Amino acid sequence: MIKSRYPLIFENAFCSHPAECAYPDVLIIGSGIGLASVPYLRREIKSKLGASLRIVVVDAGPLDIPTHLGNTPFPRLPILAAGTERIGGKLSLWGLSTPRPPERMLSLWPYSKDDLGRRFNFVEEKLGVLDPIPMSGRGLELCLLDLLQNEFPMYRTRVAPLAINRYGHRYSPLDDLPELKQLGVQFLARFHCEHLEMADCTVSAVSGQWLDGQSYTLFPKIIVLAVGIEPSLPLLRQVCCDSLPLEASDHIRIDLHGSLPRGSFGSKQADELGVAVLLMECSSREHQIPFHLEIKVAPRSLWARGFMVGADNLRGAGDDETLWVQIQAIAAMHDRFPVMDLLNIGGKISPVMLPRDIFFHAEIGDLMHRVASVIGLNPPVFTIRPLLTNHHTYGALRVGQAVSSKFQFHGVNNLYVLPPTSFVAVDDDANPALKSLVLSQYAMDSIVSQFGKSTSGLAGATTLEQGQ
Ligand SMILES: Cc1cc2nc3c(=O)[nH]c(=O)nc-3n(C[C@H](O)[C@H](O)[C@H](O)COP(=O)(O)OP(=O)(O)OC[C@H]3O[C@@H](n4cnc5c(N)ncnc54)[C@H](O)[C@@H]3O)c2cc1C
Repeated sequence: MIKSRYPLIFENAFCSHPAECAYPDVLIIGSGIGLASVPYLRREIKSKLGASLRIVVVDAGPLDIPTHLGNTPFPRLPILAAGTERIGGKLSLWGLSTPRPPERMLSLWPYSKDDLGRRFNFVEEKLGVLDPIPMSGRGLELCLLDLLQNEFPMYRTRVAPLAINRYGHRYSPLDDLPELKQLGVQFLARFHCEHLEMADCTVSAVSGQWLDGQSYTLFPKIIVLAVGIEPSLPLLRQVCCDSLPLEASDHIRIDLHGSLPRGSFGSKQADELGVAVLLMECSSREHQIPFHLEIKVAPRSLWARGFMVGADNLRGAGDDETLWVQIQAIAAMHDRFPVMDLLNIGGKISPVMLPRDIFFHAEIGDLMHRVASVIGLNPPVFTIRPLLTNHHTYGALRVGQAVSSKFQFHGVNNLYVLPPTSFVAVDDDANPALKSLVLSQYAMDSIVSQFGKSTSGLAGATTLEQGQ
């Protein structure tokens, strides 16, 4: 057996050498949504095939964080600034906001409503979305729910769905890594995939560079591409004869914040007030474009990592009983990114929008301002996150166009491109992670059925004995 030569202790414990991963049944490239999909894939393989498949997960980044960063006392922002290329991808430090798309959008998805409902429930349960977060359900939450429901009866306001369980544990696909390793899944860190070799409408080999600077080639039966939109493009262009039909979307993201003096919600102590993280579901006046406000209020002393999601967005000294308020708007956009644009940004997606989305900012900002006033914050300050910088880009490829409803890339027999890079042809305001985990299950089901078909040429799952 070839000895691993990784520089980090987790990598030596969990990761393989490229030569040990040369012949996977399923090669998953990218370990955000890609890794998060493996427990479901394994479960389906076991129940439908009764065998095991050799699954290899590769990532260009290191294995340097073993859990969501919010489960540790280490600061998130400097690590985020250093980049998101690592095992776990962006899901090692994501914001955990997990709203479902509005019902009227979901009804346009090309899957049965009941089936989708079951899948959303399954994923939400795994992520801890159904649990209340620690310190919630107390004075502030009850008071703000009442206030906002009365002042804004036209919008539904409720407790925000978050991938944090009742013990305060933040979900990340890294949670499953030790068990998956025990079950025989192989991990290859610091392997940057660079080339997809095509033969007869099939990707016959994937080559890339490992940390030793050498090139290695892997020969998988099935390839699952899950590297995010921009890193996907150079790989997909190698297997696409025509130009790629790009349909990428983003969200409008506006934040507002400020602080209120102690006693603004009565004379209760901080632990009686608790924390409030609420979701207000809204839509634009003219075209009913969906957007939502995530409204977070807590005493400064509780605005700490253990209690508030994304708490490191605000900082400051002062009275512990001061209340900090943050409202974050996420909106669907009227228009996707244009395929052609004059802005000179070197062949990448151009972060531009049409007039109606610029005007939409004012409508969202106006509602945010009114909500802040009702809470007592006057005047708040706003920040606008530029397009493509909020990590929410999705849908470069669309179901029914470049990919099938199973996320199989058209014209290539053994290539799947996972959400959010591929997406249904319906845009909405829900953050991408929950939806992507649900949609990826359709790809995993299709992979299992490809191995199950005796005529497909993929039959003959490798039986792995390790940990079965
Ligand atoms: C700070 C932050 C907050 C967020 N908050 C939320 C939120 O609250 N709710 C929500 O729904 N979403 C949120 N997101 C977005 C969410 O994390 C992403 O939508 C999701 O992680 C996308 O998954 P992905 O697998 O496509 O990409 P990633 O998570 O980026 O994973 C892709 C992986 O592919 C690897 N890779 C790239 N190129 C190659 C290559 N050539 N070879 C091998 N590996 C490669 C990368 O190293 C990376 O690990 C947030 C993201 C960030 C960064």
